[in-house]
Amino acid sequence: MAVFLLFLVGIFHLTGFLYRGLHTQGRKDTNVLPASGSFSGEETDNPIDKPVFTVDLLEPNKYSRPGTKLKKVKNIFVHYTANPGTNAQQNRSYFANLAETGERSASAHFIIGYEGEILQCIPLNEEAYAVKGRNDDSISIECCYLSDDGAFTQSTYDSLIDLLAWLCGEYGLTEQDILRHYDEGGKKCPLYYVEHEDEWELLLEDVGAALKRGNTDIAADE
Ligand SMILES: [Zn+2]
Repeated sequence: MAVFLLFLVGIFHLTGFLYRGLHTQGRKDTNVLPASGSFSGEETDNPIDKPVFTVDLLEPNKYSRPGTKLKKVKNIFVHYTANPGTNAQQNRSYFANLAETGERSASAHFIIGYEGEILQCIPLNEEAYAVKGRNDDSISIECCYLSDDGAFTQSTYDSLIDLLAWLCGEYGLTEQDILRHYDEGGKKCPLYYVEHEDEWELLLEDVGAALKRGNTDIAADE
């Protein structure tokens, strides 16, 4: 009897293993480190490929990573660093140093460098200090830039579209749920896309197109 039970348990594990093996085939997962995942921590059936990003979380601290749990995500906010020529790592260090200086509270979940590299600083199930009054229901992305007018480089732009599309897929949002920091409180952030409304509309259209492509891929697979 005991042997038979062991046999059943064995079969159960084996089928589970085979099932998972079959269903993860063909999935792209090129992240350097495992992402912290969606805020539920569960695997989602996101039709959008996860962009490559480096997870380099801030140490928990009062000024940039308070550790408050993020319970829902209604919007994704786009920012610019307001500091031309600084890269993703430098902006991450700025957030990290706030733990020491305490000069203000600031952070974002992601920073995109002007060469298109993406750094994750805050887990997706925690709040960042990025948009006054909306930290409890949104994700924020900071973008580096080179030119004084605040326009993003093509590399930053491309990474931003990929990241926004993936996050929309992760939380069941559309491009209409993507906001500028400016849209919540009127701060001129991200500057170029506040001063060029038409460029912002194009950016949202590009995310919409990426979402449509992702959904079409899934439909084609079935
Ligand atoms: Zn901002």
